[in-house]
Amino acid sequence: EAKRRGRGRPVRFHGALAASARYRRLIETDLRGAIARRELGLHYQPIVRAEDGETVGYEALLRWQHPARGPISPLDFIPVAEETGLIHEIGAFVLHEACREASRWTSGRSIAVNLSPVQFRNAALAAQVASALAASGLPATRLEVEITESVLLDASSNNLALLGQLKQLGLRIALDDFGTGYSSLSYLCTFRFDKIKIDRAFVREICVSREALAVVRAITGLSRSLAIATTAEGVETPDQAACLRREGCTQLQGYLYGKPMPASALPESGMALRAGA
Ligand code: C2E
Ligand code: MG
Ligand code: MG
Ligand code: MG
Repeated sequence: EAKRRGRGRPVRFHGALAASARYRRLIETDLRGAIARRELGLHYQPIVRAEDGETVGYEALLRWQHPARGPISPLDFIPVAEETGLIHEIGAFVLHEACREASRWTSGRSIAVNLSPVQFRNAALAAQVASALAASGLPATRLEVEITESVLLDASSNNLALLGQLKQLGLRIALDDFGTGYSSLSYLCTFRFDKIKIDRAFVREICVSREALAVVRAITGLSRSLAIATTAEGVETPDQAACLRREGCTQLQGYLYGKPMPASALPESGMALRAGA
């Protein structure tokens, strides 16, 4: 999992330690109750329109502030949460928290929430999403869920039906990290996605690798034909943004436009203050 390793910013537990059963047990023990102790929270990263750089929404990204170890990357604790089933409780927390926060934004911008494939083992997933929407009052049209292709890989599953139920709620569904893994183009025909997120691995190389450019071109071309939006992940330089715009990518996300930040740091919170003053 070199790719998963490559992109953590908080302290990561590399190598043998990260893989060890002992480390996993430590994480698991501490993760239980982390919600109740208020150690888990969301950061929000802007997603901008490629055309004019206008922020159209934010992706909610989970953060764990461990009282002794400091920040732990989701790349380290989400897999443990998935193995232990804690992801069901954590996923519900993320949905409720993200919808609640977005419902306060007068800008009307949308919110994207990552769903783990394990959450699809819960037959009541759509009901859980509906309850987060109802509790917050957020219109479904302002919610986007991001799934990875592994949701589609599990052929024996009921996942396509669950995706259909989510779609019925009126939200949008994005295919995350596209271009890595199998990324069979046929997935794009299996389900009518609203958006494809082009993985950071290709965005990083787009200006220097002919192959990366070719992959991005294939994805944007196909998306255009299917009338699906595309978001490039991990845009860090103006040159990358220019290349992506030239290829017809419709949305951009990355440190160039903003790092994931707490809700209090969003322009939305400033607007709310001014409006209330
Ligand atoms: P992802 O959904 O693909 O999220 C994008 C990741 O890329 C985030 O890492 C983000 O901080 C990082 N990123 C964004 N722009 C840049 C950039 O310009 N440069 C670099 N180097 N990195 C950038 P993060 O926050 O560490 O999250 C990692 C992964 O953990 C996410 O990948 C997602 O798969 C998972 N994750 C995060 N929050 C949740 C959650 O609430 N639920 C679930 N199931 N998974 C989550
Ligand atoms: Mg994502
Ligand atoms: Mg992604
Ligand atoms: Mg990614």
